[in-house]
Amino acid sequence: MQVVAKVLTVLGQTLERVLTGRSEFRFTTSEFHQTPAVNDPIQARMVLKEVQSELEQGFGLSLQEPVLLNLERPPVRGWKAAVATPEAHIGRYVPRWLGERRVHRIMIVPGLDRPRFRAVLAHELVHAWQAEQGVLGRSRGLREGMARWVEYHVLLRAGRHAEARRLLGLRRFLLGRSWRSILDHERRHGRQATVDWLRTLDGGTPGDSRGG
Ligand SMILES: [Zn+2]
Repeated sequence: MQVVAKVLTVLGQTLERVLTGRSEFRFTTSEFHQTPAVNDPIQARMVLKEVQSELEQGFGLSLQEPVLLNLERPPVRGWKAAVATPEAHIGRYVPRWLGERRVHRIMIVPGLDRPRFRAVLAHELVHAWQAEQGVLGRSRGLREGMARWVEYHVLLRAGRHAEARRLLGLRRFLLGRSWRSILDHERRHGRQATVDWLRTLDGGTPGDSRGG
């Protein structure tokens, strides 16, 4: 059984790499130039500020509670989680409570190039926002779908069209209806209306087990 679990975990990670082009190499395959990798915490902190303002301006998403951003590989979880959200080995959001006070803890694997790092960070910040606002607490599919939707736009805005398209393909495969319904809603009603719509869909207390 352990062997099967290990194989499925590796399979999930491989699937994510193939479909999104993510890997730990610094060279990108879609663009033929090298961009600096995000390896140090000061740089990560600067990118955090940029991405937070991008989310605020582009999507109306802002956080009240502090973010603790660590450059570290998220711990490996069970094979079921690895298959359901194979990207969870690249980035992870975990709420942490210090008494009454919540801190949004985000782990991202070191060495991603900057545009990719920004996109993964945006994804995890959306999960932090969902937790803070109590949005989509009962629907894991929509939580993931929304985070991927924002990630997709951040990639597009950075000019990473090929990667964004791969993400689109991955989401069709893994998230199915949730992902499509968000994109359809955006096409018909626009971006801000889509965020407002997601807010109203499913309240309740978010479960502790979250995706990547
Ligand atoms: Zn996620």
